[in-house]
Amino acid sequence: MKLTQNFTLQELTRSARAQSLGIDNALPPQLLGNIQTLAEMLERVRATLGDRPLIVTSGYRCRELNKAVGGVVSSDHTLGCGADVVCPAFGTPYEIAKRLAPQIGRLEIGQIALESIKGKSWVHLSTRTPDRPVNRVITVTDAGTQLGIQSIG
Ligand SMILES: [Zn+2]
Repeated sequence: MKLTQNFTLQELTRSARAQSLGIDNALPPQLLGNIQTLAEMLERVRATLGDRPLIVTSGYRCRELNKAVGGVVSSDHTLGCGADVVCPAFGTPYEIAKRLAPQIGRLEIGQIALESIKGKSWVHLSTRTPDRPVNRVITVTDAGTQLGIQSIG
């Protein structure tokens, strides 16, 4: 099912980990609105990165899958409000986060987290909801969480 021009429901719910663990990661229908908002935010992000392919490495995660992957900034994923992305055609996750952070308001992003865990790095993006802090920009590494986009080496 196509959500926006460049994002499908399938790519926002698929998970190799879920498949290998036999977890059904299908989106509950009541979260469709959230995932639609997420796809629309990702479209704005994609355009900001020069319309280059934005690869979603993790989108929606049911509780069981979320527990299995043990994400750091993870609860947004279980609500269909968060996605981890990379965009090799644009640059490194650090470069992506640096590009997006000054435009967090215009892009209607609730949170940007540059994450670098166990040698892997990606950018976590959350949509805004009324009950959560907005304009939050953090860097999460094995050493902990820091405010702002920090060099991850
Ligand atoms: Zn994430």
